[in-house]
Amino acid sequence: MGTSAPKPHSLGLFGGTFDPIHLGHLRLALELKQQLALDEMRLMPCYIPPHRASPSVDAQQRLTMLQLALKECPQLHWDARELQREKPSYTYDTLRELRTELGEEVSLSWCMGMDSFVALDTWHRWQELIELAHLVVVARPGWELPAQGPVADLIVQHRADAEAIRSASAGKLVILEQRLLPISATEIRAHIKAGASPQFLVPDAVWSYIRAQGLYRS
Ligand code: ATP
Repeated sequence: MGTSAPKPHSLGLFGGTFDPIHLGHLRLALELKQQLALDEMRLMPCYIPPHRASPSVDAQQRLTMLQLALKECPQLHWDARELQREKPSYTYDTLRELRTELGEEVSLSWCMGMDSFVALDTWHRWQELIELAHLVVVARPGWELPAQGPVADLIVQHRADAEAIRSASAGKLVILEQRLLPISATEIRAHIKAGASPQFLVPDAVWSYIRAQGLYRS
């Protein structure tokens, strides 16, 4: 596993399909690590995303691309636990497992885009997530915070500044306005399928791997 020893005091987790990993993901993960002053930041590819269609390449190929991307960036790590589990990767299960592994003291932050956050109340045991970790939500263009309903109530109860995640191990909801690179994996897959190059949207090593394996062509 691409994780560092010893135990971090604060750990950020950034989940996604990473199909493929691109510079938008990498840049955001690095900015979050820096802005939240995290000791460690892990990118965590999901096996079968419960809210999304199945990825177009297999899990091992997505992991290999992530590993290739992170070779150039020692500040970021990967965590493949959700790929190793042969069932849907519920965030609740992942956070519970990490809590058991790391103990109660470590500050855990689950980072997600606003597009995921607005549907949080459809996630398995969603109300317990904030007991296991902080939730860090990154605003994405075109998405607004819910003004009413259960997710809006969660915001009212738990919203805090970014600094708060260092003073508690879980329980804070941080909403960040982050500049995002205008890159999407959907667009990259479409480029490749159309015979175009995604160079400068993905790390060079990832593009070489995609070509060598013939990924996303059909
Ligand atoms: P797709 O285009 O297939 O929906 P994606 O590019 O959105 O894929 P995912 O792997 O689904 O990639 O996203 C993982 C996480 O990265 C999500 O929290 C998503 O909000 C975030 N993300 C996606 N694109 C960007 C980007 N350009 N910059 C920063 N974060 C992004």
